[in-house]
Amino acid sequence: MRIRIAATCFGALAVVSCQGPADAPAQESSFEAAKNQILVKTQDDYNAAMKSAQPGDTIVLANGVWEDFDLILAGEGTADRPITLKGETPGGVVLSGQSSLRLGGQHLIVSDLVFRDGYTPLNEVISFRIDSETLAFNSRVTNTVVENYNNPERTQRDTWVVMYGQNNEFDHNHIAGKLNSGPTMTVRLNSEDSQQNNHRIHHNYFGPRAVFGSNGGETLRIGTSKYSLTESNTVVENNYFDRCGGEVEIVSNKSGNNTYRNNTFFESRGTLTLRHGNGTLVEGNLFDGNGAAFTGGIRVINERQTVRDNYFKNLTGTRFSGALVVMNGVPNSPINRYHQVDGVVIEGNTFDGVSAIEMSEGSDAERSAIPINTTFKDNVIIGSGAQTPFNIYDDMSGISFADNVTNFAPPAAIAEGFAVETGLAADISGDYGVERDETGVSWYPKSGFGSPFGTGKTVTIQPGENQISEALKTAASGDVIVLAAGDYNEAKLINIPIAVTVKGADGAKPKITFERANLFQLTQSGALQLENLAVSGEKAPDSVGNSFIVTNTRQGAGNHTLEISNVDFSDFMVNREFSVVIAAKSTFFDAVTVTDSRFEDISGTALRFESETDNYGIYNVEALTITDSVFKNVRGSATSVYRGGRDESTFGPQILVEGTRFENVGAATAPAMRLHGAQIMTLQNNTLVDTQPVVFTITTGKPKTVVADNTVTGAGAISFMTVTDLRK
Ligand code: CA
Repeated sequence: MRIRIAATCFGALAVVSCQGPADAPAQESSFEAAKNQILVKTQDDYNAAMKSAQPGDTIVLANGVWEDFDLILAGEGTADRPITLKGETPGGVVLSGQSSLRLGGQHLIVSDLVFRDGYTPLNEVISFRIDSETLAFNSRVTNTVVENYNNPERTQRDTWVVMYGQNNEFDHNHIAGKLNSGPTMTVRLNSEDSQQNNHRIHHNYFGPRAVFGSNGGETLRIGTSKYSLTESNTVVENNYFDRCGGEVEIVSNKSGNNTYRNNTFFESRGTLTLRHGNGTLVEGNLFDGNGAAFTGGIRVINERQTVRDNYFKNLTGTRFSGALVVMNGVPNSPINRYHQVDGVVIEGNTFDGVSAIEMSEGSDAERSAIPINTTFKDNVIIGSGAQTPFNIYDDMSGISFADNVTNFAPPAAIAEGFAVETGLAADISGDYGVERDETGVSWYPKSGFGSPFGTGKTVTIQPGENQISEALKTAASGDVIVLAAGDYNEAKLINIPIAVTVKGADGAKPKITFERANLFQLTQSGALQLENLAVSGEKAPDSVGNSFIVTNTRQGAGNHTLEISNVDFSDFMVNREFSVVIAAKSTFFDAVTVTDSRFEDISGTALRFESETDNYGIYNVEALTITDSVFKNVRGSATSVYRGGRDESTFGPQILVEGTRFENVGAATAPAMRLHGAQIMTLQNNTLVDTQPVVFTITTGKPKTVVADNTVTGAGAISFMTVTDLRK
């Protein structure tokens, strides 16, 4: 194969950050000095070196980008003389394209590799087995990076790191940015050789995992329901989970006798879930929600679990995402449903500013088995609201509450076990969690914070033909294109794989027309901010289904953000079904925010998020916000959001519509808005004029809704909203 020196910074509109081999320290390599170090520069050389490797040998991959490398390390090292595979210098070796790593044998060590700019063609990026016959034992992967190594098809399932075998170690690695289906990392117990495995997973940095919008967005899963009554004996300690928010399970524990100790969970949505299996210990962890939405702590199911001496801080989550959630079980539960909580110990924990502690959560006709033989003792509970964070959904007689202290009187059923001290402050003398800097690899930067918009340069352009597409050709992420007053016409479709802002100059409202079926197409991590514009559909082709903004998976479907502020859309009438925004199937918006905008004379549904019609609990938008806007003479609905199915793995869709006027929307047949399966919804201070009511359909869970102060006037005015409940 060829090796080329890694490009350090990619072209415009390609990648957000610039980090690579050139940033690594220029280290003198000393492999010539040691006899047992073998430097290889091609895949063929590597394979030859690997086949003849003896215990004590180190194979060194030369610095550069290794493309499409099916890297296999097979060998029999010894405890004193392991076989080692490493990159020449830390950060200097990048595996890209269709590369992967498999190791099998005894006493193998892998370090100093970076996987990025590609995705695995297999089920796994790093696998502790070569095939089902050849597993790894007593082996270690360390100081390795997997970042943004995503299959471009969001629904294509893979797992970045999978541990098989026994007595393996995964430590000081940096794993961040997974977007496609499948847990980021798993431990498998699918053969006897992988059970009672004593693996250690420690000091890793698990970086941000964006909302997946469906089940399959876990960061770590240990076991599966099938092997859940088997002991795994895996230790997970001193890892940092940074904004791991893929779904309701940050960690899905599905096996027995594991330990989760001194990990930090920062701004991570959902919980460490003791989903299946018994006898697991959770201690010394820090759950710091930092006030972020849906942040939770631990969800408890099954027998003999111990939750002690953990610190839960500023967690806003409720229900399945509470700071502590003790579930009801299913009597004689099948292996994949909810086993009864039995013999669980919850003691010595500090809950400091938490929204909810949920007891007997999930209680319903199926989940009717209450927790039994369980102790809740010596805990400190400080709620974040004006009353106790405890919610009790069933009989508490199977839990013994003793010697707890709290700031608000708890519900009467459990009050005996609490001293109430108003003004109680947390006294944190213990050592909880791990510092971010103590995890991951020292030579690779951890993920940053903040909005992607407005962080780059500002370019002002003048009116004319294709001025916007010209300016965006050379834009980098965070750039702002300012349009001087005047008319702009675009003959081309514009691909947006990065974050950009397009706005009218202060005081101007430049007019944009476009000649293709779409103007902006969001791909990869495309994000778009539009401000102070007047967009007309008058020059679009005379065809069905045009849309000003669309999404497309061909170049990768990351999480998108769309912000529209003070933009007028008009004359979208050239043919039927003309929309302003359409989310394609298998694409996902983290947030769509529309404010102070006007949608007038639109022949389709203005904002369409209804492509996931399979009823798998998948949807196209996590948070849709529309405020202070007007929809007038829209033939479809103002917006349509569809989230079907009964899966309980997600938090959204969340919908907020406020101060908005709907006038002659739906041409008397379509509703003002079609909101199917919304989980959190506020509709307030809106006005319907000559428009059919909003249609809200409840599909699963217990949606939180606020519908207030809305006004209905005009012909046929009946009600603001109709509700259909599919749960019954
Ligand atoms: Ca899950």
